[in-house]
Amino acid sequence: MDSDEYQRLALRSAPAGHTEQDRLLNAALGLCGEAGEWADTLKKHAFHGHPIDRAALSKELGDILWYVALACDALDLQMSDVMAENIAKLRARYPDGFSPERSLHRAE
Ligand SMILES: [Mg+2]
Repeated sequence: MDSDEYQRLALRSAPAGHTEQDRLLNAALGLCGEAGEWADTLKKHAFHGHPIDRAALSKELGDILWYVALACDALDLQMSDVMAENIAKLRARYPDGFSPERSLHRAE
């Protein structure tokens, strides 16, 4: 499945009748909530003695993706365009791959 197909399929379960502001706020709050669930799963592994729960982490990443799809739709963006723009930014920032030196002395 490619990202645009995912976006199209994910949005089938988005609430209908919401304004752009509703969709953006839903996406923002949802991303924060799902990122918190992802971090909580890691916290249980790191500090509560739980084995790492890869299945739960994968499901939470999916939940995060759903809200990314919603945010993209609210902004009339395709996920594939956002992904390509991010890769172009990273290529410019780290042309030879990540380096702590380039990270410390970024222009932006
Ligand atoms: Mg979740």
